[in-house]
Amino acid sequence: MSRAAGAGGPSAPAWDGVLFDLDDTLLDLRTAQHAAFHATMRHQWAGVGGVAPGVLAAAVEAFATDADGHYDRYLAGELTFAGQRLARARSALERLGAPAEAAEPLQALWLTDYEDEIRAHWALFPATADVLAAVRASGRAVGIVTNNVEEYQRGKADALGLDWVRVLIGSDTAGAPKPDPAPFLAGCARMGTEPARTLMVGDSLSSDVAGARGAGLVPVWLAPDDAGVPRDATAPEPDQDPAADAAPVAPRWDAERECWRMDAVGGLLTWL
Ligand SMILES: [Mg+2]
Repeated sequence: MSRAAGAGGPSAPAWDGVLFDLDDTLLDLRTAQHAAFHATMRHQWAGVGGVAPGVLAAAVEAFATDADGHYDRYLAGELTFAGQRLARARSALERLGAPAEAAEPLQALWLTDYEDEIRAHWALFPATADVLAAVRASGRAVGIVTNNVEEYQRGKADALGLDWVRVLIGSDTAGAPKPDPAPFLAGCARMGTEPARTLMVGDSLSSDVAGARGAGLVPVWLAPDDAGVPRDATAPEPDQDPAADAAPVAPRWDAERECWRMDAVGGLLTWL
């Protein structure tokens, strides 16, 4: 099926399979990170309760988005996974203005308690399961390409009911992390699809969109309207994403970024 994408834009692509990024594309990791951060930080430094709300919000957002590039240093082999976690906690404590006696992250807290907390908050975005099931039912292949250790991400996907998605490529198994072409091409090979007829859906312009384009896949940028807006993790979480029940909106061509763009993963339903 082919549809006009609007003035000057290309027609919707023909595709046989789709690769998804996992974190913050299928899974709402950001909300889980915020919740785990607040729970863990309270035990690290009791004084966090007196920090100005704006300062606290900025610190947790920098932690979740890895504003200091510690996770990139892990992907580059310069830090261990545990090392990047502690480095992010240390940077957060600096931003919060923690006193010297509380400024060094406690390993047991950030490696064990934080991990327990974030696992307890792992959750798919509301529409994810239904959209993936519809894609599967259409006869198209579904896979995941993610920049984290494959075994860890496999466990995460399985815990979220995605054990049927058998193609999952981690950053440690394809030879290089996204945006290198290797993990995208490995995903296509495992799914048995041609890159030019394979969508890559992800929230990162630098890893997912640029990488997919470089590997010859069809890049689809998942960019919610609130992208980049810090969440108030102290506010009660809504029971349901208000967008979940809305009619899906077709991806639109973003000429400036040379990719398709959609607000929610449900946009793929218009391409089935
Ligand atoms: Mg992501």
